[in-house]
Amino acid sequence: MTKIVNHWIGGKTVEGASGTHGPVTNPATGEVTTKVAFASVDEVDAAVAAAKEAYVTWGQSSLAQRTSILFKFRALLDANRDAIAELITAEHGKVHGDALGEVARGLEIVDLACGINVQLKGELSTQVASRVDVSSIRQPLGVVAGITPFNFPAMVPMWMFPIAIACGNTFVLKPSEKDPSASLKIAELLSEAGLPDGVFNVVHGDKVAVDRLLEHPDVKAVSFVGSTPIARYIHTTASANGKRVQALGGAKNHMLVLPDADLDAAADAAVSAAYGSAGERCMAISAVVAVGSIGDELVEKIRERAEKIKIGPGDDPTSEMGPLITKVHRDKVATYVEGAAAEGCEVILDGTGHTVEGFEDGHWIGISLLDKVPTSAKAYQDEIFGPVLTVLRTGTYEEALDLINASPFGNGTAIFTRDGGAARRFQLEVEAGMVGVNVPIPVPVGYHSFGGWKDSLFGDHHIYGNDGTHFYTRGKVVTTRWPDPADAPAGVDLGFPRNH
Ligand code: NAD
Repeated sequence: MTKIVNHWIGGKTVEGASGTHGPVTNPATGEVTTKVAFASVDEVDAAVAAAKEAYVTWGQSSLAQRTSILFKFRALLDANRDAIAELITAEHGKVHGDALGEVARGLEIVDLACGINVQLKGELSTQVASRVDVSSIRQPLGVVAGITPFNFPAMVPMWMFPIAIACGNTFVLKPSEKDPSASLKIAELLSEAGLPDGVFNVVHGDKVAVDRLLEHPDVKAVSFVGSTPIARYIHTTASANGKRVQALGGAKNHMLVLPDADLDAAADAAVSAAYGSAGERCMAISAVVAVGSIGDELVEKIRERAEKIKIGPGDDPTSEMGPLITKVHRDKVATYVEGAAAEGCEVILDGTGHTVEGFEDGHWIGISLLDKVPTSAKAYQDEIFGPVLTVLRTGTYEEALDLINASPFGNGTAIFTRDGGAARRFQLEVEAGMVGVNVPIPVPVGYHSFGGWKDSLFGDHHIYGNDGTHFYTRGKVVTTRWPDPADAPAGVDLGFPRNH
């Protein structure tokens, strides 16, 4: 029997009343296993109304109340790592170990939210003028919304809501319709931890639900993570509707390898970062830039390693790489490899014909490796979001840097070298929001913020860390005078107040 995934509004599941549903497929079998309810405008309104009502008390609750619930949630999340990872694998396709990794990285943000009292400590200046003190505090915004992508159905929502609710906001999540079950499990765990009804709500759906959140007058801020065209649309539309917005988009992450690098370590890193999660990571390395004469040796080392990757269903413990999210996406990824030779690339590995015995209807594609890729090739220009690694060659560090900085994307990047001076120069000169030095996927830990530059992020704030706290609060400055009873009355003075 097909499973049905419903909304979570006001602390309970609410059946989709619109009658519209979307299919959720197990990517390893190609079978539709689940129907997910698509919210109408009225259903989104009901979720926002529940969040608005909950804000009346949650916004006034003490830091101690909020953090004690988050500590309980953390323990439940920890105990349910496997259960959540299984839901992710069944709908996304990634291997179980990788799904566990995503839960662990989400848990890091819950850790941060458990200590929000430290982040929310205000500032106080005493005696700025005679008997005058000034304090700066930060207060919650109200109802805030999160719209998230398919590739991290647990982690990316956890980049947002733990901090938002720890700061005293209430939350409406619109997760990806392709793998919606993890978000419902998280809602249940939050409720079990004692989170009051309505503080966290989930509405499933498509553009109808998203657009209503973007225009709803009671939604004060929108966090988005997804592809660049939609991120740009979300930023423009939410801003036009007067909302605070952070919209993280797509990527093309380069890994620069200098001639002095440890080539074995660089090849290990390139293969792990390019093909992990079948390349469906916004921080995946999709372009290696080999500098100088090392290109042939590096490509050979990458090929040797990549060929050995075991592809299979995510719930098979021997699988290292799973299928792609949908058949449509799988076919689109294949077109980049099929057209590569005609665009001047050297095709070292072509994974387009790959199948997995016993799972013939799964969304499989094997490993592809393209060498000597010209910057004009579509395989270089587009975010492919699949297991396709492109290698580009340059003569010098400067040419490599110019190539990377000419990319419209600026999410993550990495340099592999033994030269500290070159690494330092790269950190300062490269135009990207996150830089790794001998680290291929430099996703910041929870207490540093995550975010890209250029077309990889629209808005002022990166996500989680200090930026997260800033995004989900607004500042207030209080200037106080408590006169001493012995003071003479100040009298009327129409001049602009001067401090003395
Ligand atoms: P997507 O942009 O298609 O969808 C993201 C969300 O937007 C989903 O909830 C979806 O329902 C909604 N959406 C889709 N089309 C819409 C439309 N026309 N109007 C309104 N809402 C719409 O992204 P995806 O395919 O789910 O995820 C993959 C993309 O996300 C990749 O580009 C990847 O790089 C990016 N991503 C970026 C980061 C980051 O931190 N920068 C992290 C993860 C994923």
